[in-house]
Amino acid sequence: MSPGYGAAETRSHCHSGVALAHAMRGGTLELVIQNLSKTYHNGVQALKDVSLTIPRGMFGLVGPNGAGKSTLMRSIATLQEVDGGTIRFNGLDARAEKEEVRKVLGYLPQDFGVYPGVSAESLLAHFAVLKGLTSRRERAASVETLLRRTNLWHDRKRKLGTFSGGMRQRFGVAQALLGSPQLIIVDEPTAGLDPEERERFLNLLSEIGENVVVILSTHIIEDVSELCTSMAIIDHGVVRYSGSPQDAIAGIRGKTWRRVIDRVEQAQFEERYVVLSRRLAGGATILHIYSETQPDSTFDAVEPDLRDVYFTYLSHNGQDV
Ligand code: ADP
Repeated sequence: MSPGYGAAETRSHCHSGVALAHAMRGGTLELVIQNLSKTYHNGVQALKDVSLTIPRGMFGLVGPNGAGKSTLMRSIATLQEVDGGTIRFNGLDARAEKEEVRKVLGYLPQDFGVYPGVSAESLLAHFAVLKGLTSRRERAASVETLLRRTNLWHDRKRKLGTFSGGMRQRFGVAQALLGSPQLIIVDEPTAGLDPEERERFLNLLSEIGENVVVILSTHIIEDVSELCTSMAIIDHGVVRYSGSPQDAIAGIRGKTWRRVIDRVEQAQFEERYVVLSRRLAGGATILHIYSETQPDSTFDAVEPDLRDVYFTYLSHNGQDV
């Protein structure tokens, strides 16, 4: 059982009318995080003065393992206390008005567990009760809509223990969508999915992201380039970049270079240059490096992609790119 369930269980009544009222109360639908900090008891500073404005649509939060993504996600989802800073969604103060935020929140935790012996339909109906859908008719309609939307309707009688990883994640999205949330948080949802399942899952998320705020945390940069209209790169608890993927790419255009080298030369290049990526091709290695100017004529200019952006920011350790 995952810690996320605790939140689901304590969530009180949630109707789309309530969500709508909140959406209207604050005007534009956005999440504003200011100066958030969190240090764990063991002294690890997981968030260091994090400020982010997250607009409607798909927002990608990307960073390596241990960067602080889950800490940030759990803090926004009101499951964990921070030491300082503010989190505001639509005029709600997420630190002070937890119950109110939970009414408009859908959360798919990183370690989403399911009861393996229960059918998808029964468990979703159970979550719907916890979410406050007490009318049997309303609940049945909602369960059916969500199972169809996540493409699980035909498998609704199957036990969750027989589901593939991708099906389980889609079920996780179905439960996160109960009660028509305005703020949806999905924490590392594509880890462990095969390419086809991942594609399907990302398509589902992008459909959802049109009218609400969806925060997708991931260490897979391609998830962001395929889906997100805005993004942030986080590392060691610090936001290294926030903005659109296009602006991020434009920011390093003209500063990325490509060279084919022998594999044996790699160590030497790693030492001399800011290497962004290495790709094996036959016996050779294709390097992408970051450099303000062309290092020498053996390097060709290469159009950067988001992966280059990501490794540029990680390699700069907080210094301006
Ligand atoms: P991510 O989701 O990006 O992998 P996390 O937010 O899980 O990062 O972790 C950020 C840092 O905080 C890591 O160094 C991790 O080891 C540490 N951390 C996370 N949770 C705890 C905890 N409950 N107690 C102590 N340290 C923690």
